[in-house]
Order: sequence, then C-alpha cells, then structure tokens
Amino acid sequence: MTGQRIEVRGTVQGVGFRPWVYRLAQRLGIRGRVRNDPRGVTIEAFGPEKLIKVFIEQLQVDMPASAHVLELGSHRIPDESPEGFVIESSDLRGDKSLSIPPDLATCPQCQAEVLDPANRRYGYAFTNCTACGPRFTIATGIPYDRAATTMRRFDMCPACQREYDDIEDRRFHAQPNACAKCGPTLSLTGLDGDALRATDPLKAAADLLRRGAIVAVKGLGGFHLACDAADGAAVRLLRARKHRDEKPFAVMTADLDAAKAVAEISAEEEALLTASERPIVIVRAKDRSSIAAEVSPETPFLGLFLPYAPLHHLLLEAVGRPLVMTSANVSNEPICRDNGEARRRLDGIADAILLHDRDIAMRCDDSVVRVIAGTPTVMRRSRGFVPRPIHLAKPVSRPVLACGAHLKNTFCIAMGDTAYFGPHVGDLETVAALEFFEEAIERMQTILSVRPEVIAHDLHPGYLSTRYARAQNDAILVGVQHHHAHVASVMAEHEVQGPVLGVAYDGTGFGEDGTSWGGEFLLCFADRFERLATFRPVRLAGGDLAMREVWRIGYALLHDAFDGQPPIDSLPLFADVPPQSIRIVSQMIERELNAPLARGVGRYFDGFGALALNRPLSTYEGQIAIAWDHVANDAVREAYPFALDRNETPMEVDLRPTVRAAVEDVVAGRSPADVSARFHNTLVNLTVEVVEGLLAEVGDVPVALTGGVFHNARLAGGVGQKLASKIRVLRHSEVPPGDGGIALGQALIADAFLGDKG
Ligand SMILES: [Zn+2]
Ligand SMILES: [Zn+2]
Ligand SMILES: [Zn+2]
Repeated sequence: MTGQRIEVRGTVQGVGFRPWVYRLAQRLGIRGRVRNDPRGVTIEAFGPEKLIKVFIEQLQVDMPASAHVLELGSHRIPDESPEGFVIESSDLRGDKSLSIPPDLATCPQCQAEVLDPANRRYGYAFTNCTACGPRFTIATGIPYDRAATTMRRFDMCPACQREYDDIEDRRFHAQPNACAKCGPTLSLTGLDGDALRATDPLKAAADLLRRGAIVAVKGLGGFHLACDAADGAAVRLLRARKHRDEKPFAVMTADLDAAKAVAEISAEEEALLTASERPIVIVRAKDRSSIAAEVSPETPFLGLFLPYAPLHHLLLEAVGRPLVMTSANVSNEPICRDNGEARRRLDGIADAILLHDRDIAMRCDDSVVRVIAGTPTVMRRSRGFVPRPIHLAKPVSRPVLACGAHLKNTFCIAMGDTAYFGPHVGDLETVAALEFFEEAIERMQTILSVRPEVIAHDLHPGYLSTRYARAQNDAILVGVQHHHAHVASVMAEHEVQGPVLGVAYDGTGFGEDGTSWGGEFLLCFADRFERLATFRPVRLAGGDLAMREVWRIGYALLHDAFDGQPPIDSLPLFADVPPQSIRIVSQMIERELNAPLARGVGRYFDGFGALALNRPLSTYEGQIAIAWDHVANDAVREAYPFALDRNETPMEVDLRPTVRAAVEDVVAGRSPADVSARFHNTLVNLTVEVVEGLLAEVGDVPVALTGGVFHNARLAGGVGQKLASKIRVLRHSEVPPGDGGIALGQALIADAFLGDKG
C-alpha cells in the first residue's frame, strides 16, 4: 500500500473535475480524497502501488473536456488507509485566483437533452451541467458558487436540487443548474419594451429571422445582432443600420456539417470550432455556398462559429439556416450588457430583442481564432478563454496590472506565477469603452482578490489607458514601449527569458523618441531592449486621416521613391481623387506640416495595396492590408529589390526600390495578384536577410515574430519557414499577435524593470 499527493494546476474548478476524479477512484478501488484548493485541485490517493500508477495515468487521459491542466505533479505521502474516497469541502483560504473558469460551450449530453422531446429539459434554453454552461460571465464574486453568480435569484426546484446534491449526477454542484420550472426564461420584446405576445418567444424570433428581420439575441457575454446569413437583403439592412459598410460579419451554423457545407475546414480548424471555448474561426469559404456575398465582401474567408449555449442550438434549429451573429454594439462602443441598455442602444438597429432574465455580470465578446501558417492563433482572446490562467516561467515579484494598448484593448493582471487576461474591451476611443475598461478591471481584481502594486502602461501619453494608469495613485507606474511589449508577450508564451531578436511589425506604436514605430527589429531582454533596425518612415499627410484615405499613403510612398516627382498621372488610383486634395497632401508632405513620420509596416501594406488595387479608401482598420494579402497569386516566386541603409542608426530598411519596381509593374499592366505576391515575397526576403545579418552580430538567439501584421499568413509562414531551419522561431498561439496581446508583455517588463527596487 502506498499514498500519493497529486496536485493539479490549471482550469480544473467548475468543470466537473472532482466528481470525475471521484468516479475514477471508485472504479479503480482507490481510497482517499479530492478537494479544490486555491491553485487548483489536490488529490490524496491510497492503494496498491500499481493501481495508484494506473490512477495517475488515467487522470491525464480522458479528463473532462473543459478541464485545462497546466501542471500535474505528485509525490509520495505516508499511507493512511482511509475508508473509501470522498470529495472534501473546498479549501479556499488565501488566494482564490483559480476558482472561476471561463464559460464552457454546451456539452453533447446537454445538447441532446435539449433536443429530446422525452427529456424534462426539452427546449430549455438555459440547460447546463458541470461540464458546460456559463461561468465567468455570471460570476459576481468569489468563491465561485451559486450565491456569487447572477443565478442567485433563481431557487432550484426539488428535481434540480436533487441533481445538484447527487455526486453520481452530471449536475453535482453545477452552480448554474436550472430547468424550465425554476430557472431563467426567455421573452421577445419590441424595442419599445412591449413583450410581443408570443407563447414561444424562441419560435417567434425564428419566424422573424426567416422573414428577413434583424433580431438582437441576449447570449452569455452580451447581445448579438442576428439575421439570416443567406438573405443578402437582410445582411445589407443590418449593415446600413449598424453603420458598418464592409467589415465581415461572423456566421453561426447549427453544427459542424452545416459549417462544412459553407467552408473548407481542416482537421485543425474542426478541432477549434468544436472546442469548449467555441471561438469564431476564420476559415476559407466555399465558392458556391448559401452564405450571402454581403456577409464578408471581398475576402475568401468566413468567420464561422458553432452554437455555444442551448439558446443558440434551439434558435439555429428553429431557423434552419446559418445566421449572421455579430456583436450588438454601435460602431466602436462595447457590446451591450443589460436589458434596458440593449433596448436603448439597439433602437433603430434591431426589429425585436430575444431577452432573458439572467443578468450578465461580465461582458465578454466572442473570441476569434485562426490557423496562421499551421499554428492555431488566438486573434481575439475573450469569451471561452477568459479568465484562463497563463503560467509564467518566472513569477512576478508583486501584483501587476497592465493596461494594454489603445485599439483592441485587453488588460492583464499578473500575480505570482500566473497571468490573467481580462475580456476584450475593444478600441478605447469612447466614454462607454473607457467605462467598460474600468469596470472590467475592478471586477477582475475582485475575482482574483488582488490589488495591483504596479501598473504598466503604454508610452503614448494620449491613450485613455495611459491616462487611466496615471490617475491611479496607489501603485508604481511603469511606462512600457509598445513593440518591446509585443515581443515580451511572445517570450512569455514560450517561457523564454531572452535575449530574443524580436521582429515587431504593426500599424503604429509610440516610440521612445516620440515618433510612430512599427517595423522594429529589437534585441529584447526581460527588462530592456536595443533597437537594431527599423523601416524608413512614411509621411502620413493628415495624420490619422491617412489611415482612412489610404491614397495619401500611396502618394507619400511615391513622393519619397521618385524624389518628389510622383508619377500619379500613370496610376489609375489618382484618377478619382480631387486634384485639390492631391495638391494639399503634396504640400503637407513637402512642408512637413501635419504629416508625421510613421514606420509601421502596416502602413506599407496600406500604401502598396492602395496603389495596386486602386483603392483610395479604407473603411476599417486593416481592410486594405487584408485585401492586399488575399489577392496575391501563390504561384509567383519573384520579388522586388529593396535596400538596407546602414548609415542610419538604427539601420533602416528602405523600400523605395520596391515602390519603383511595383509602380513599373502596375503601369505595365501586371495584375494586382502578381504585384501583391512580389510585394509579400519582398517582405519575407528582407525580413530574413535583416534577421540573419543581425544574428551574425548578436549571436544565435531565438527570433520572435509579433505584431498585428503577422496575422498575415503569407508573411508569418514565409519568414517562419525560411528561418526555422537555422534558428528557433517563436510565434504566438494563445496570446494574440496584435495589440490584444501586448498587456502580458507590459506586465512582465514592468516587473523585470523594477526588479527588487519596488
Ligand atoms: Zn452539459
Ligand atoms: Zn429546476
Ligand atoms: Zn501593436
């Protein structure tokens, strides 16, 4: 007989882990106990050595699908020969950081029950069990039990209570357990708040959707705006009402088969679509699918996701067609949360709202994942992922709050050997977004029972996140350079301490010299960096306006490459731009008036895309870059010339030869597909050449690829492939490459920078 204490770290609470351990122990005849502790689950197992070995092996195989184990360790303890196996009440003293898991998509059993007329939960939209259901979005405090969730006001009926109390039951201690008798209910209202007289609100909503209406649907972490994805007129109506001209909408299909009918789905993408996080997965659309072209104009890709709550399963089943399901918000504002707010803010957008009476405690947008050059990469980390812990190789010395960036904001809290991202806040440009940001920080601090001693923020003085940080007076503030933070995020993901050669390509980020960086080659350490190379800057005539009127960037590239004599007459891009505007832009550039310098590689995508695609305008961030990527001809291997200016410090990548060669191609009538492929190949070549040159100077250190531009699979894959045979290449996976991922890096840099000084 022997005893082992087994400590399991990760997301193992609120996912049915203890009952599963109990049942496994019963089956094998192991005695002992299991309990939640502040950092996960602890098991003490007693029995014959061989059986204990089997037990530990089995623990690591078919665990509950939603459990996410970071670490499992065991050591021998004296044999106690206890009677039987028990689940002990939680030991939740001290730090309760891991007690709330992310929301979990409906499990197959619950799904089957909801669709089974013989089951008592037939048609019940709020069915859940220990393996599935809302978690983070209903949590109001700690520890995670029903009283500290928005389910608190629903008293369980005797049948539900029996399930909750029975250890052999799938709903043993399922905190949001409910049924039609005792749980939340649906209602359908018009925007004036009148409940539409519908005996079955869900069926009535489905009828409206089938007739081309736009219905707001309250889900787990917020509201969606839904319409029939096959109905072009309905999608156009939604675009018009939401003031969203071209940005793709996500589509929810009833199941995997329905998803496969509209898109090409690889085994990897299938795994992502069906995972308990249930993110939106960016996949290649099939040519002749039933999805209206208006859903994702001009891209061959679709953002697809599967139902993750019983409400969605029932709605999709009732409608019988894929639905557009896009976050219900007004352009840049955060997603709606409560019923009254939804009625106010969706007035004029939705024809009706499918509501329910379970409150959303924490807003959480849908997450977005894409397989980028073979690597599943989280592009937006929110519902299903938050607040899953990220293990840190080196613990932080004191709790740190990192405020993130300006666009696609997420914040991060690091404490001990763990970091937690908050939900996706979005662009911090409105009062509503700032309120959400502050509220989410407050809530996460409550849930984690932590007060940060250090606050890390971006260097940009104008960002609302920076201003927020500066308004807090009970913490040490550390400003962190944007691209250093990008690189540190990849380093953290791979648990690498540095030095690392970081390649950070993005749209913009405040540099230490006060100018806009974004094509950076940085030798990064935990607490500092050396800037080894960058890109020759482009003048943004009109500042931010140039991001929307991208012809201005195209013009600036020409002006620079052709020594002030841009050949605009031979380029169709400028045919539709008023000559007056061109004159003004030209003067701004020449006189350096309101034409700041920008080094972002994203700006080169905008400029080249504008020139070769004849696209003067961009209606959303990244639109031209995405179109520019999609148009490229895979068969083209050639590239354009470029130069490296070693007289500058740091060294500058000079794309003027590239601009001249590309213009020659455009004028000669070469297709945008060829020009785009050559442009992409050039970027791959120059990145590899610069990296190899720098490695020859600094020694063989790992190379990290980061920044929003590395959402581009052609670039990430091309550079990764060429370098990987020679050197270790670090890419993002769990943490977004874009600005949604930088908070983690900010936190770790701030901690390393302070060292023992704090
Ligand atoms: Zn379930
Ligand atoms: Zn009940
Ligand atoms: Zn960035």
